[in-house]
This record gives sequence, C-alpha cells and structure tokens, in this order.
Amino acid sequence: MSKRILIVGNWKMHLNASQASLLLHRLHERIKIHRNIEVVLAPSMLVLQPLSTQVDRRKFRLAAQNAYYKDEGAFTGEVSFSMLQDLVHYVIIGHSERRLHFHEDLEVVRDKVASAVRNSITPLLCVGETGQERHAGETKQVLHDQITTALSNLTADEIEEVVIAYEPVWAISTFEGEIAKPDDVESGLKFIRKQIAELYGNKAAKAVRLLYGGSVDDQIVRSYLELEDCDGALVGGASLNYHKFAGIVDSAYRLVQAQGEDDAGQ
Ligand code: PEP
Repeated sequence: MSKRILIVGNWKMHLNASQASLLLHRLHERIKIHRNIEVVLAPSMLVLQPLSTQVDRRKFRLAAQNAYYKDEGAFTGEVSFSMLQDLVHYVIIGHSERRLHFHEDLEVVRDKVASAVRNSITPLLCVGETGQERHAGETKQVLHDQITTALSNLTADEIEEVVIAYEPVWAISTFEGEIAKPDDVESGLKFIRKQIAELYGNKAAKAVRLLYGGSVDDQIVRSYLELEDCDGALVGGASLNYHKFAGIVDSAYRLVQAQGEDDAGQ
C-alpha cells in the first residue's frame, strides 16, 4: 500500500526574511502538489510570521524550530507554543543541537512535547544517540530513555499524532555527518516503533509517523524512504538548497507513484 510521506526542511539559524521569501518562491515553482506527500518548512522564529502570509498552504505547512513550554510569563526572550498556535502546524522538539548546545534535558523535552500537544501543535520529536553512545553500545538505552520521558505526559490517542524523527547525532551534517546505512536506520526505526507498541499499544505504534534525519540529500533520500518503517525525512543542510530540497520531494513523488502503480497492478 502506498504510504504518505512527510518531508521537513529545517532551515536552522539561516536566512533572513527576504532570503527565506526567495527560497519559498523557488520551492513553490519547483514543487508539485501530491496528496500523499506533505512538505513542511521550518524557518527561524523571526521569519515565521512573514512567511505565513506568503506560503501556499496547499503545498507547504510551517513548523517552528523551538518554543517554550510555559504559555506566558516573565521568561525574557522566549516564545510560547500558545503564541505559535495560529502560525504553525508542527514544532521541532528535542533536536540534538538544542540538547547539546542549549542543554535541554529529558524533562524539558517532555514538557515541551506536552505543551505543544496542549496547544494543538504537532510535535516533531527528535531522538538519537551520539557517536560516543553508539560506540559504547548504548543506542537502544538512549532511544528508550528519550522516548519514554518525552511522551510520558501524553495519552495513547495523543501519541498517534506525534511525529518522531530518528536522528543519530553522528549522522547530522553539522556534527560528524557520517552517512547512515539504511539497515542501521531501519533497525533504529523498528526499535522506536516497538517502544511505542510496548508503552501505548499497537494502534498507537502503527499510527505514529517516523522520520529519518541525518545528512539526507536528493541522491540518497530514496534509500531511506523505501524502508518499511520510514514515513519521511527531516532535512537540515540540503533544505537550504532549492535544487536539492525539490529533488528530495521529487524522489518522494516518484516513490509514491511507483507504489501506487504496484497497488493498481495487484
Ligand atoms: C538536522 O539537523 O536535523 C539534520 C538532519 O541536518 P542535516 O540534514 O544537515 O544532517
């Protein structure tokens, strides 16, 4: 059966308002609408508001890269999930750059996930082990701890809406940038789905969408999208290049088309 694919571009702390607007314009020209492909753009907080007035909502949805879990108060410099409610569909939570550079611990990630859900914003929860944890054989323990804590304040129904991105830190281009083997990605994704099944049952495990992220570009994305447990990709560096990002969406397009043809032939 053909799957729905979710492609998310994380622009990180790049692009001012006019650069972001230009990239959006170029992507708009290149990317076609497909009912089984959802494309999400995560610009910087500053650019969300202007981009929200320019974006063609049939083609793109917006995501925030971060937010604070309290709804309002004396928290200088922060923006809350409740303030983002009308602007974004998704929010990235638990990205390794936030965990490592900004020391966001398991409990902060848990509170952000709960706050996003409470404010009707879908969390894109990032989990993944560092290179050191991988070499120490701790990958499963790390994923287990990150997942169980992050989701601990949600009900099984709420978990069905969550998106989880498996992003091994060693595979992210701004860390070690090692290209992960599809087999390793599949075993990580399977482990995550199994965790959800054990904690919240098979229905939740089937519904939850799992993405892969780590140096994905237009040349290699298909090898991940073809994996049974992979529902899409979270893309960092390559999302800033419209050829590459549109190429990634094209790959997803060709894959769902091929799967649709297989379904029709059966
Ligand atoms: C990311 O930072 O989430 C990411 C996947 O980055 P990159 O694609 O550049 O490795």
